[in-house]
Amino acid sequence: MKKGQRLTDLIGEEKARRGVLVLAHTYQPPAVQAAADVTGDSFALARAAKGRPEKRVVMCGVRFMAETVKLLSPEKEVLLADARASCPMAEQIEPARVLAFKKENPGVPVVAYINTTAALKAVCDVCVTSSSAVRIVSSLREKDILFIPDQNLGAWVQSRLPEKHLILWDGCCPVHRALTAADVIKAKKAHPGALLAVHPECLPEVTRLADMVGSTAEIIAYALAAERGVIIGTERGVWDLLKQRHPEKELYLLAPRKLTCPDMKYTTPRALLGCVRGAGGEIIELDPAVMRGAARCVEKMLELGG
Ligand code: SF4
Repeated sequence: MKKGQRLTDLIGEEKARRGVLVLAHTYQPPAVQAAADVTGDSFALARAAKGRPEKRVVMCGVRFMAETVKLLSPEKEVLLADARASCPMAEQIEPARVLAFKKENPGVPVVAYINTTAALKAVCDVCVTSSSAVRIVSSLREKDILFIPDQNLGAWVQSRLPEKHLILWDGCCPVHRALTAADVIKAKKAHPGALLAVHPECLPEVTRLADMVGSTAEIIAYALAAERGVIIGTERGVWDLLKQRHPEKELYLLAPRKLTCPDMKYTTPRALLGCVRGAGGEIIELDPAVMRGAARCVEKMLELGG
């Protein structure tokens, strides 16, 4: 038996013995995803955890994802598998900046991408995920809307909803933001005939050239259904997973050197094992007022069909 498999089996035994649920985002390394009970997008993971009996949850992802699990399951003990893992985009905007905007712009709703800290969600009006953003923004009565933090996702939503006026700030995902139209041209030349599926956190110059723009779950579904090659334009964990589970598919990674999120790669199977055993990781603790405010923001998204 290979060493990696032994470790996966050991994590499985410890999870069962201790009643621990392990969640892994699709950007996590394949060996971490292999040891998880549930894999997927951040909000899908938080929803999955809510319906599970385990009282202890380990999130292999970044901090805002573990916070979202805690918001939906406040009665559970939630651990972030590696305390260093935080999403730079989630922390780009201070709650005080939003509060100041609201004071100066009464009546303008503030929409927060799910990739935000709980403290930031707590001062916003409604959350969105990359797959629900167009639907939720479209359902708002107001024309003028502040959309934070990702200006590229905001620009994508704006392109789908010309009747709205989205105010965008300067936030972005440094990983997806690095992709350029030149990368697309190069990849299409290297893989003629292949389709291009990208995440809406990419620059407009990239989304404009894509055959499909969607969340990681939507990109995976698209790649699996495609009858020809697909170039994947999102963090490489998605491509790694697809290649491992579907080696027969013709899949390429758009600009491989750019598509690794360092924060998503901190968690290792060995560290996960320690975390399941109760050693390591970070217990997520949220201030009760932050918890109430952020939960309201997430509930509003669910109420609007997110
Ligand atoms: S890929 Fe981008 S949005 Fe996702 S965790 Fe990394 S920095 Fe944040």
